[in-house]
Amino acid sequence: FNTERFGQHILTNPLVAQSIVDKANLKPTDVVLEVGPGTGNLTMRILPAVRRVVAVEMDPRMAAEVQKRVLGKPEQKKLEMIIGDFVKADLPYFDVCISNTPYQISSPLVFRLLSHRPLIRTAVLMFQREFALRLVATPSSKLWCRLSANVQLYARVEHLLKVGKGNFRPPPQVESSVVRLSPRDPPPPIRFEEFDGLTRIVFSRANKHVRACFGARGVKEMLEKNYRTWCAENEKKVESDLDMKEMIEKVLQGSGFADNRAAKMDVDDLLKLLAAFNIQGM
Ligand code: SAM
Repeated sequence: FNTERFGQHILTNPLVAQSIVDKANLKPTDVVLEVGPGTGNLTMRILPAVRRVVAVEMDPRMAAEVQKRVLGKPEQKKLEMIIGDFVKADLPYFDVCISNTPYQISSPLVFRLLSHRPLIRTAVLMFQREFALRLVATPSSKLWCRLSANVQLYARVEHLLKVGKGNFRPPPQVESSVVRLSPRDPPPPIRFEEFDGLTRIVFSRANKHVRACFGARGVKEMLEKNYRTWCAENEKKVESDLDMKEMIEKVLQGSGFADNRAAKMDVDDLLKLLAAFNIQGM
C-alpha cells in the first residue's frame, strides 16, 4: 500500500547512492535539501559532507527511521526533518537539492526548485527515464517538448546516469535516470507565466506551423482578453476596431516565425517570438 501511495522504492545500490551525492559537488558550508529521504541511504552520505541537511519526508515512519540512524552521532545536530508533503511545505534556505522522490511529483519538484529564491546552485535528481530524457532533449529531437523548453529556459540540464530497476527495493515499473539541473544565474528577466503561455500554444501541436497553433480554438479569445487587461492596466485605450486575428498575424509575420514549428524552435527562438508579442502589448 505504502509503496504505491508514497512511491517507496528504496535505492539499494551503494555505488549509485554515492555517485548521486558525488555529482552534487557538495561544499562543507552547504545546506542541502533532500526530498523524500526514505530510510536515509542518501542522507547518511550527504550529512558528513555538508553543514546541514533539511529533509522533507511525507511518511512519518520513514522519517523516524532516518532519525534513528543519526541518533547519538555527530550528524544528528546537522539534520532537520520536516514531516510533510514537499509540494506544500515551506522551504527554508538551501544551496543544493538532492532527491530520489516518487515520480508523481517530478514536475512540481523541478519547477519549485527553479523558482526558489535565492537561486540554488545545483540539483541532482532521480527521475523516470522518459521524464529525464525530455528534460535534456534538444530542439528537433523526438522528445523536445514544452517541458524541455520551460526547464531549459531556467537551467542547464545534464543526464548523468542511467539507473536500472534492479537497483531499487522493491523494483519500480520503469527505468530511471539521474539528472543535474544548474539554474542560469541570473535567471532570464521574463515572467514564467508568459513563456509558459506561449509554449502551451506552440507545443499544442508541435509539428504544425506556429501560425496554425495560434489559429486553434480559444487562442485568439484568450489573447484578446489578456490584451484588454493589459491596456486597462497601462491606461491605454483599446482600439475601437480591434482585430485580434490581424494583430496576431502581424506579430507572427514580423517575427519571422509564422511558418516555423515548435518542434524545431530552440529557447532563443521562443524568447524572440515572445518579445515580438510583448512589444505589441500582447
Ligand atoms: N531517497 C530514498 C532512497 O533513495 O532510497 C527513498 C526513495 S523513495 C523512491 C521516495 C521517498 O519519498 C519515500 O520515502 C516516500 O515516503 C517519500 N515521499 C513520497 N511523496 C512525498 C512527498 N510528496 N513529499 C515528501 N516525501 C515524499
